[in-house]
Amino acid sequence: MKAWTQTSLLLLLAISTVCSGQQDFSNVTVQSQQLGESVYMLTGAGGNIGVSAGADGVFIIDDQYAPLSDKILTAIRAFSKAPIRYVINTHWHGDHTGGNETFAATGSVIIAHNNVRKRMSSDQFMAHFQRNAEASPPQALPVITFSDRLSLHLNGESVSAYHQPHAHTDGDSIIHWPSSNVLHMGDTFFNTTYPFIDLSSGGSLPGVIKATANGLALANDDTRIIPGHGPLASKSDLQAYHDMLIQVRDLVAAAKDSGQTLEQAIAAEITAELDQQWGQGFIKPADIITFAWQSPD
Ligand SMILES: [Zn+2]
Repeated sequence: MKAWTQTSLLLLLAISTVCSGQQDFSNVTVQSQQLGESVYMLTGAGGNIGVSAGADGVFIIDDQYAPLSDKILTAIRAFSKAPIRYVINTHWHGDHTGGNETFAATGSVIIAHNNVRKRMSSDQFMAHFQRNAEASPPQALPVITFSDRLSLHLNGESVSAYHQPHAHTDGDSIIHWPSSNVLHMGDTFFNTTYPFIDLSSGGSLPGVIKATANGLALANDDTRIIPGHGPLASKSDLQAYHDMLIQVRDLVAAAKDSGQTLEQAIAAEITAELDQQWGQGFIKPADIITFAWQSPD
């Protein structure tokens, strides 16, 4: 009984920590990997960061959580002393935009799709987590927004952000460095696990499938692909993930056609053949079935 109580208390503490967003970041280390002459990937906690650092200065893709800004800056300072001129947000979620306010205060210009600014400007309810995300302070908001595509002509190449409608959210971008042959997929790509799809922010499984197909069309066998979460990937990793999503879509469509309810499809473990490989992350088989089931076409 006592052990049970202690376990419950620990679980409750863990859950309340996650829900309040008050994670402890003191043990997080931010590490960098060089992907090209002027392109790097940073990992820490939250979404993977892409960095361009060259003669014209530095710009970054996503900025994780606010308490990590100093560690992110220190990691960048190992290869560039130049100011961070721009931050591009791949979407609005706090594990990708949390550093906006601190970077903006040091002079960075924040750039994102129109819907990123829109969602960060007001309180958001994330249905999957049953959690409210408070509106961001004005200083954290993107000051340059775009609808379909935006290019930055810096450090010897034209880097393009392409909007992916109704994918992980309604404001996702994938970012392509054509000369360096690097692609940042944002959270349209969780490498090695089932993805979180934020239906309450306008996301959908068909949109994620489309985004991954668009990423594949930009990539070749030598492309270094930065996923929103998970380790650095190749085109074959993105292809495997894309194919898994198609299988999930088709399994859910077949379950619907056979007259099953969502609850019955979950109980029947319709994704069992995929779960061993893809279901070990924080998104469980029941979650991915639910995302697929509830996605608009
Ligand atoms: Zn996200």
